[in-house]
Amino acid sequence: MKDTRCTIRLILGDQLNKSIATLKDADPASDIILMTEVIEEVTYVKHHKLKIAFLFSAMRHFAKSLIEDGFDVAYTKLDDPLNKGSFIDEIQRAIGLYDAEKIVVTSPGEYRLLENFETWEKLFGVPVIILEDDRFLCSTPNFLNWANSRNNLRMDAFYQYMRKEHNILLEAGKPIGGKWSFDAENREKPDPSLSTPNPKSFVPDEITNDVIELVRRHCHDHFGCLNNFNLAVERSQALEVLKAFIDERLPSFGRFQDAMIENEPFMYHSLISLYLNCGLLTPLEIIRAAEDALHECAAPLNSVEGFIRQILGWREFIRGVYWLNMPQYKELNYFGANKALPSFYWTGETKMKCMAQAVKQTRKYGYAHHIQRLMVLGNFALLTGIAPQAVNDWFLTVYTDAYEWVELPNVSGMALFADGGVFATKPYAASGAYINRMSNYCKTCHYKVAEKTGSDACPFNYLYWHFIKRNRPLLEENIRMKMPYRTLDKMSAEKLDAIDLDSKLFLSKLT
Ligand SMILES: Cc1cc2nc3c(=O)[nH]c(=O)nc-3n(C[C@H](O)[C@H](O)[C@H](O)COP(=O)(O)OP(=O)(O)OC[C@H]3O[C@@H](n4cnc5c(N)ncnc54)[C@H](O)[C@@H]3O)c2cc1C
Ligand code: SF4
Repeated sequence: MKDTRCTIRLILGDQLNKSIATLKDADPASDIILMTEVIEEVTYVKHHKLKIAFLFSAMRHFAKSLIEDGFDVAYTKLDDPLNKGSFIDEIQRAIGLYDAEKIVVTSPGEYRLLENFETWEKLFGVPVIILEDDRFLCSTPNFLNWANSRNNLRMDAFYQYMRKEHNILLEAGKPIGGKWSFDAENREKPDPSLSTPNPKSFVPDEITNDVIELVRRHCHDHFGCLNNFNLAVERSQALEVLKAFIDERLPSFGRFQDAMIENEPFMYHSLISLYLNCGLLTPLEIIRAAEDALHECAAPLNSVEGFIRQILGWREFIRGVYWLNMPQYKELNYFGANKALPSFYWTGETKMKCMAQAVKQTRKYGYAHHIQRLMVLGNFALLTGIAPQAVNDWFLTVYTDAYEWVELPNVSGMALFADGGVFATKPYAASGAYINRMSNYCKTCHYKVAEKTGSDACPFNYLYWHFIKRNRPLLEENIRMKMPYRTLDKMSAEKLDAIDLDSKLFLSKLT
């Protein structure tokens, strides 16, 4: 117990960085750092077992290093008999225990938590200071200013603005290489003979093993498996993951960014989103590491620019879109999609090879790369009209990097176009031809990607045209959709009937 009334500084599970605003002027002599594993956060959606084990282990390691720095850390484990299970109850308990005069916390990543935090001052009767979230390169007020200066929200324009703001990949104020984006060079077809480097892995220590047991006991009915846990759980390890990516994968990242190969879940992707999203890594250090690789001629420009665009562009943009549009964004359902999520999103038991691959690796690793999420899992949900709420719940549940601020705009905005085009210019709907071009899945699939209708045809083929046809009133005025509607109008009545018939039969069996 401190001699005088103290300040409680709350650190959330996705704020595990010593540069976080909460800790900036923290005083080990007078402050208590509060960290708590609350069941409410574990079960509001039943997160992947790996995600829970990863976050609890990372939190415990972070608390340990704060103690080594001289801080008083009040840490409540999930199975502590005194743990009351929610932030509100745990803070209430800590205020009594430490006679706190003030609570300091950095603004959370999710709207539902901010709403909750904003009730605390009244509830607890002590000042609650909610600091600006400084884990991002573009603050929410800054994004709002940028958005207000524009007629539309487009990632490309935002990305250029961010490159200039942070002086990244610039030469005399101009983009290195003469253009802002090298995306056109980053769509190479998969080469199944490629051997991709093994991801960096770590043997669980005692803290992690304890947490794994805890998750086994308390979260046995959650999605995913815990076998072979090998994730980084502290900053020094996350930095090793980053270094391995820069050395081994970044050079080929660009070329094969959109490619998918059977039984190659990671390709040349960085596998850093879970570390970045919980604070073990920061965006600027990742961007600088990639820039350095370019300057040292260790990686080509198309890879470096493509990678930096994901972090400086897409990630910051998506977060801005989230805060700009919440809370109503969550309710949007442009197409009125209302189907239930098919059970194979959980089991992976489907004859569609692309879906089975994406779901099974998601269960095993809590990971799928961007194109699997967007053009396989998301595309299928879009074409079949699965309710956005169900799709969002699934994406939030199954990935180790999932937090609503990043998951929701990616799902409702990018994959489902449920927001009617807040930032995407058209739905990312595609037939089997796209998946066939970017993967080798179709070669061993039960269905035939070259067949457009009939019982052997790839379901993505007829479902694509069924989607285009049934949503005509909502899409045909979109300038970027003119081409599919011209093609649709040239189809024979027999072909259209076959598309209808196959789609209805397929959809009727979906639940
Ligand atoms: C439907 C859907 C749902 C998604 N849900 C999430 C999610 O819950 N959490 C999450 O972090 N990302 C999400 N993404 C974005 C992206 O798929 C993941 O960030 C990426 O697959 C993580 O793997 P990686 O670290 O190997 O990324 P890489 O491919 O190596 O990319 C590097 C980094 O760029 C960032 N990034 C890339 N694309 C995006 C994007 N569209 N939005 C935000 N950041 C991006 C990530 O931080 C990522 O780690 C989603 C994308 C889609 C289409
Ligand atoms: S044929 Fe169709 S269902 Fe099968 S893997 Fe290819 S795109 Fe997927």
